[in-house]
Amino acid sequence: MNKARIATTWLDGCSGCHMSLLDIDERLVELAEQIELVYSPLVDTLDFPEAVDIALVEGAVGNEDDLKKLQLIRKQSRLLVALGDCAVTANVPAMRNAFKLEEVLRHVYTATASSQLQLPKEEVPPLRDRVRPLHAYVEVDLFLPGCPPPSEAIFFLLSELLAGRIPDLSAKSRFGA
Ligand code: SF4
Repeated sequence: MNKARIATTWLDGCSGCHMSLLDIDERLVELAEQIELVYSPLVDTLDFPEAVDIALVEGAVGNEDDLKKLQLIRKQSRLLVALGDCAVTANVPAMRNAFKLEEVLRHVYTATASSQLQLPKEEVPPLRDRVRPLHAYVEVDLFLPGCPPPSEAIFFLLSELLAGRIPDLSAKSRFGA
């Protein structure tokens, strides 16, 4: 039997959704028999591969690198799942949307920094004016809310998709929980 090619990644998030994924605990072994983890912070793959069956994306789109990565993921994945509130609504990273970008940068890099008071010019991806959820830029196949989504809901999502079914996630998770 061919194993499903699974990818997971994070954009602007806190990695909490991935922690919840790991909280599936011993049932990860059950999933591992059916999947090949081809890209993830949990494995050592540099480039996002082609022909991914299911991509779980945590976090919102806040900078130019996020957007390029998301567009590549969409192009190379059959199913794209927005994993957690940051991916679904932009959530915590979008708190900066209430302020002008210049104000945010000045506050972080000069007003409250204790050394090297300057705005970064190199090696930091340019921020976009507003932080937005995944579906603002690409088509999203499934939304799993929660901050983070419960591990039980992530397990259900993956189990159903691996069985060839599109899961009904409405009773499995809720915003903020
Ligand atoms: S949804 Fe919550 S747990 Fe997940 S990345 Fe965002 S802040 Fe972290």
